[in-house]
Amino acid sequence: MLTHIPQEILDTLTDVAMPRLGPAPEPSGLLELGDQAIPVVEAGAVVIGSGAAGLRAAVEAKRRGIDIVILSQSAWGGTSACSGSDKQTLHTANTADQGDNFKEMARAIRAGGAMDEDTAYIEAVGSARAMASLQYLGLPLPQDPLGGTLRYQTDHDEVGRATSCGPRTSRLMVKVLAEEALRLGIPFFNQTTAVEILRDPTGRVVGVLAMRNRDQGAANRYGLIYFRAPSLVLAAGGPGELYRDSVFPNGCFGSLGLALEAGVELVNLTESQFGIGTRREGFPWNLSGTYVQAMPHIYSVDAQGAEHHFLADYYRTTQELASNIFRKGYQWPFHASRMLAFGSSLVDLAIFRECALGRRVFMDFNRNPVPVPGDQPFSLERLDADVATYLGTAGAIQDLPIDRLRHMNPLAIELYRRYKIDVAKDPLEFAVNNQHMNGGIAVDTWGQSSQPGIYAVGEAAGTHGVTRPGGSALNAGQVFGTRAAEHLAKRCPAPLKGDGAPEVSAALARLDRLFRQGSPHTVERLQTEIQARMSDHAGPFCFSEDVMRARAEAHNLNRAIAEQGLAPPRPNQLARALQWRQMALASEAVLAALNDYIAEGGGSRGARAICDPDGGAVPETRTGTVEAFRFREETDLNTGEQLCVRYDGQQMSVSKRPNRTFDEAAKTFFERDWPAWLTGTIYGEERA
Ligand SMILES: Cc1cc2nc3c(=O)[nH]c(=O)nc-3n(C[C@H](O)[C@H](O)[C@H](O)COP(=O)(O)OP(=O)(O)OC[C@H]3O[C@@H](n4cnc5c(N)ncnc54)[C@H](O)[C@@H]3O)c2cc1C
Repeated sequence: MLTHIPQEILDTLTDVAMPRLGPAPEPSGLLELGDQAIPVVEAGAVVIGSGAAGLRAAVEAKRRGIDIVILSQSAWGGTSACSGSDKQTLHTANTADQGDNFKEMARAIRAGGAMDEDTAYIEAVGSARAMASLQYLGLPLPQDPLGGTLRYQTDHDEVGRATSCGPRTSRLMVKVLAEEALRLGIPFFNQTTAVEILRDPTGRVVGVLAMRNRDQGAANRYGLIYFRAPSLVLAAGGPGELYRDSVFPNGCFGSLGLALEAGVELVNLTESQFGIGTRREGFPWNLSGTYVQAMPHIYSVDAQGAEHHFLADYYRTTQELASNIFRKGYQWPFHASRMLAFGSSLVDLAIFRECALGRRVFMDFNRNPVPVPGDQPFSLERLDADVATYLGTAGAIQDLPIDRLRHMNPLAIELYRRYKIDVAKDPLEFAVNNQHMNGGIAVDTWGQSSQPGIYAVGEAAGTHGVTRPGGSALNAGQVFGTRAAEHLAKRCPAPLKGDGAPEVSAALARLDRLFRQGSPHTVERLQTEIQARMSDHAGPFCFSEDVMRARAEAHNLNRAIAEQGLAPPRPNQLARALQWRQMALASEAVLAALNDYIAEGGGSRGARAICDPDGGAVPETRTGTVEAFRFREETDLNTGEQLCVRYDGQQMSVSKRPNRTFDEAAKTFFERDWPAWLTGTIYGEERA
């Protein structure tokens, strides 16, 4: 481990400049509809979103000869470009020093249950290719002198399959993929927000309607632009704006509502990750890895300014307290069972309760953990064995947390400095936040949704199960971005007939009916209501009656919007208003799934505790049990199946389906299986 890394190296890993986009491509034509003239872009397929997953799909499709177009709300927005943890990760199955193999890795990926076994295998077996191709494009992943990839352990990962090029790994991924997209000449429509998927009367996808402020005018009152294509790849990321308490960057809406409106099936919406981080109001960042492995002092401050050493009410000894702060480094997401036996998720519970009291929570890197009353002071000599071994190996034996952090990961300090926060001087405010949606659009083994012609990749797709090893989100986006492109190339549907005028005209009429003077549903009110409901009732701690009530309220909101429309927003907020209407739908879908899950007796799992006075487990603390947070234990009952949600224009319906299986004993045989590859039968049926 280097003790001094030159500043210019730190700078290149934290300040990642993105490529310059050229002028916006010209549309292919204009669709005249009465007094409106809507620009049209004809394409073989359209990728919606320019995060790591969307760019991967676009690049792979273009290389296979597809006439692909990218449209994006914000070219370098979204989570890949704007967020990360202190170690953004990719999954690497190579350099196995533990006898690692793809089947083993697939088992780890799906260990939490409710995940398709074939999907887990696809992600495992595809990871080496995803990683190697990123290296080929210039992603600077760290290597040992013999070319092996440096690896480390993350959450839900026993082997240490993760790797990283520092805090900006996913931004660097976007950079190298974007450079490749530009090199390949893929048309890129920036500041362009997809607002409605269009289908013809037979149900066939005929493209997507988007909004661009620059197109607004008398002859195009909503600033519409029609992307006419028989295939769409939804790569719009996760629904970060669903929650008030969120570590997603600002403006992440995802495409769950867009998909629901088009009748596309969603899956595993009950599964989201929550954990500690700094909120998006400041600089959104996960406080995992070395931030907590340095073991800063954690405390809260009440409205009167008094400090509270609240973790001392939870842990029995200073050693236990400090060791559990450390463990949040690789046990980062909240997990109900880790609240038991004085585990590391007691930290999340404690912080959640402090925030509920109206207190602000901080970590101070200039103070070691303060002792538990009556116990010995903090000492590096008194730590649990796993913690002491790790810190010893890392050489993190400095007296103060800030020096241990500087030693283990100087980039961690540098990163916050970029946003005018100096953790070497000032305590850092943080909370338990929503960070990732494991569920999403249901897809098959090629990334295709329930609607032929619509693919979903990256966080838009609901490919993760209950848990996911740290780093597998980025890996899944790369693997399925490639798979979707391969499928598109082999199963490219016939070109569209006609010009789409009936579909665009019907969409225009819907917009005319939707925006109504006097409607109470403004952008601001929708945002406040939806985010408060989700954070207060569908966060890491869920109570059955709360969820039931929240679901009914979410449904009422959607009914009210259907009846009263949306208040016309400022002209530059038209797309935003539609995204909030879609969030209202997404929120009802999440609550519908959660409510069904709880009503059926589902136990705590993933990053959610299902709190229940009759639950079999209760968090125990130094000062007694926390009865109010008694919870249902994790059970195997529902791990073999997934909850699916569809919207019929009025109601959400929730159904179940078993996980797809994967036969681990089955072996490929070259001469037998080659023809299926050569003839393309591996891609399944031709699209009608
Ligand atoms: C703080 C934090 C830390 C994380 N750490 C890790 C980690 O260490 N390892 C890991 O694997 N994962 C991590 N994740 C998750 C991971 O970063 C995301 O799952 C991943 O980046 C999603 O990539 P994506 O391409 O699917 O979406 P995004 O990168 O979010 O991109 C979405 C794109 O869609 C565009 N868009 C959105 N809506 C529309 C629309 N309607 N029309 C047009 N364009 C639209 C956006 O502008 C953006 O370009 C982390 C997430 C967060 C928030």
